[in-house]
Amino acid sequence: MKSPVILDGKKLSEKIKEDIKKEISILQKKFGKVPTLATVLVGSDPSSKVYVQMKINACQKLGMNSKLIELPEKTSTEKLLITLEELNEDENITGILLQHPVPKKIDERLAFDTILNEKDVDGVNSHSFGKLSMGERSFKPCTPEGIMLLIEEYKINLEGKLVVVVGRSPILGKPMSMMMLEKNATVVMTHSKTKNLKSLLQQADLIVGAVGKPEYIKSEWMKDGVILIDAGYNKGNVGDIDLKNGISKCSHYTPVPGGVGPMTIAVLLKQTLDAFKIKFPN
Ligand code: NAP
Repeated sequence: MKSPVILDGKKLSEKIKEDIKKEISILQKKFGKVPTLATVLVGSDPSSKVYVQMKINACQKLGMNSKLIELPEKTSTEKLLITLEELNEDENITGILLQHPVPKKIDERLAFDTILNEKDVDGVNSHSFGKLSMGERSFKPCTPEGIMLLIEEYKINLEGKLVVVVGRSPILGKPMSMMMLEKNATVVMTHSKTKNLKSLLQQADLIVGAVGKPEYIKSEWMKDGVILIDAGYNKGNVGDIDLKNGISKCSHYTPVPGGVGPMTIAVLLKQTLDAFKIKFPN
């Protein structure tokens, strides 16, 4: 069999960021200001801290402003909502990112839904999801949108393909399914209560791993020529799909790292720039 095509998220994300950087330098000259991304981090989860720092570094590299608001683990939902409302009202803030997951006792959905639609650059509020589900223009959840951009870049036609998405979280599996449905794929969204996952996967033309369990999706569960999209990122630099063995069976795959991860950040920055351009047209 031919060697599989690597869906190179690192390369594509660099291209997207290069374009953003150029646009920001133009905006700086034109308006004397640039977009500002506010990131809210609640608690001290080490992985979340790393992700937030990566996003801040990326903003700085492109000439975009960033503002970090760190709140303690014991923060109440009410306190978080007040912080988000202040950011909503702050004229200097272009986009708001609430780092997921927040501590369990916080009502994360209510917090996401407090973010103004025009500042929801992470595409997480219910309005954005509703628009997305209707195929209308909206900010998109960054990870699934990053995957869609990779699919487009590599000219993968989803029409008529049987796609099995493993996971149904509101930030990943669920919007991913809606986006692929919009491209006329036949989508099966699976979850922890799904029966016969293996037999569903064995029929799939394209598998999205969004389950949050290291190398959970086994190569024996894949048919030859399958397209593998691994959104997972787990300790030890492995995704949710057993890529080591899956590579010999697939036609295309996203590597871990260097596949979906870098695309997530690129989309966040792109959508922050888009929010700025909507606010300051021309
Ligand atoms: P999550 O909120 O924990 O959701 C996991 C989903 O997997 C749930 O819908 C769950 O089903 C389902 N699931 C659990 N066990 C299953 C099983 N045995 N069979 C089928 N489905 C099962 O996770 P998430 O936030 O969506 O993240 C998923 C993965 O993507 C993680 O590895 C995460 O690190 C990664 N991720 C990466 C990025 C990035 O930038 N690259 C961004 C976000 C997430 P139920 O709904 O029934 O519980």
